[in-house]
Amino acid sequence: MPKVVSVETAVAPLQLEHGVGAVEGKWIVKTIDNVLVRVTTDDGITGTSYIWLPTARQTLETPETATIMIAERAVRSLAEQFVIGEDLFTTERIYTRINADAGHLGLGMVTKAHSAIDMAMWDAMGKVAGLPLYKMLGGHKEEVPVYSNELLMSTHLPPDELGEVARGLAAKGFRGLKLPFGVFKDVPVSLDVARIKAVREAIGPDVKIMLDTAARLPVDELIRRMRMIDDLDIAWVEDPVPADQIDNLRKIKSALKTPVATGEGVWGTRHFRRLFEANAVDIALFEPMRVGGITGCQKVAALASEFDVMITPHVYPDLGVQLIAGFSSGLMAEYLPWWSRLFKNPIEAHNGFVSARQTPGIGWEFRDEFFAKSAT
Ligand SMILES: [Mg+2]
Repeated sequence: MPKVVSVETAVAPLQLEHGVGAVEGKWIVKTIDNVLVRVTTDDGITGTSYIWLPTARQTLETPETATIMIAERAVRSLAEQFVIGEDLFTTERIYTRINADAGHLGLGMVTKAHSAIDMAMWDAMGKVAGLPLYKMLGGHKEEVPVYSNELLMSTHLPPDELGEVARGLAAKGFRGLKLPFGVFKDVPVSLDVARIKAVREAIGPDVKIMLDTAARLPVDELIRRMRMIDDLDIAWVEDPVPADQIDNLRKIKSALKTPVATGEGVWGTRHFRRLFEANAVDIALFEPMRVGGITGCQKVAALASEFDVMITPHVYPDLGVQLIAGFSSGLMAEYLPWWSRLFKNPIEAHNGFVSARQTPGIGWEFRDEFFAKSAT
């Protein structure tokens, strides 16, 4: 069996054309730092992955931030202690050991760093096995519907223009469009509602609308606003309140027709069980780098299928397609092209679907420049 002989890191900051994560009308995130990881085995097989770190910087200058340094150091330290010299096909053992030995540090960067290593190991395992990731996970389907999150960057537009942008995305074949609702303090409620209505009118009844409320409103105000658009056949309202407010999530679920989605901010896998047992969520959004990589995703997916809850990944478009194709509980993948510049072969949606890649591993190929300049 192949053994892991090295785990390298590289840093790839990206500048966004438009900002994201508005607070009181101002964009706060314009750059995203990415830490890339490459695992190599003794027979020369490599596996790659990345984790991302949103930053408050407005430009790519001075990328030597504390978060990058902590993330890289965490990856290398975990690799040295738990991974290098180990059999590649031991992701479950490594998951258990890191959670037992490093768990007292708390979730957070340890989980992110472990997730990066785990994803890269799964990529390498697929290459050794000669199988695409989705087949290793169960091969549930070949094609995955994707929704676009590109309207996130168009929210400054008046309703009629936003409707036109939405119509263009629907014409490209996207199966759903996500947009913010109740997020911007400087946007009157009437305008927020008019935007959603304009999008529904522009795209017709057959394309889904998802609303991301980013947990910005008190629960009763959230319900009041959602009732203004609850008849528009909204596919889900995302993060209506923080994911740990289980009673409020249940209150929202019983007050609205619109299904409730949450979970992108949840660290580890155990809180998903609490959400499912409390019947507090219709769709579980999971963030691969917060749940323990692909090993953690398997646990969330298995749990979700036991509770008849559907799951959908937070960003990670390329990996997300493989995950949703693999799992029976997989619903849709998110299409957001911010990370496309990292890859030689970013995924492309055709008529709203992405076919699961048949190449071994995750199938993503990072551009050569990143690891060429890395230190081991
Ligand atoms: Mg969200």
